[in-house]
Amino acid sequence: MIHKIFPVGPLQCNCSVLGDEQTHEAMVIDPGDQVEGILDILRREGLALKQIVITHAHIDHVGGAMKLKAATGAPILMNQNDDALLKMLDVQATWVGMKPPGVVKVDEAVHTGSMLKIGRISSNVIHTPGHTEGSICVYFPEQKKLIAGDTLFAGSIGRTDLPGGSTEKIMRSLHTQVLALPDDTEVVPGHGPTTTIGEERETNPFLQK
Ligand SMILES: [Zn+2]
Repeated sequence: MIHKIFPVGPLQCNCSVLGDEQTHEAMVIDPGDQVEGILDILRREGLALKQIVITHAHIDHVGGAMKLKAATGAPILMNQNDDALLKMLDVQATWVGMKPPGVVKVDEAVHTGSMLKIGRISSNVIHTPGHTEGSICVYFPEQKKLIAGDTLFAGSIGRTDLPGGSTEKIMRSLHTQVLALPDDTEVVPGHGPTTTIGEERETNPFLQK
């Protein structure tokens, strides 16, 4: 599997470009900004974009989705519990000093049990509310990889003090869903360096019982 991690925008959201090197089908997760750069990666790798997946409706993760869709025709997938947040992108833009991206329209709602396929590569959506109501992680079981959005970071967890956030829910999501994955699962957080489930289980101060 091709996997390029490209930090985008002022908040350096980790945008993932994932592709099947045989069928050349690709998925982009969290195209928050710098769509030209994302398109460059797709072109350079010879990939055809099939899906745009949003881990949650914060502007730094979803800001470039419509531009990327316009350039590729790929549908936008997101959990419907973040619909309300998605309607507040103008307000969010003032929080972080980004340009409002305009209206973002979701083409397909995804939830726990949704299976995403690009070529021969399958991944599962795991609904992990807490950072936002509609936060999801995307898990690639064969590749032992988790795209965690802002639910889990190396040494930290997602903030829960923004509208729609819940400390109780993020702790439940982390303990019942995320930490249920094998220790050798590579974790690609929404910001910052990659880690593993085992490393976070051992050392993340927010996950100690
Ligand atoms: Zn966020």
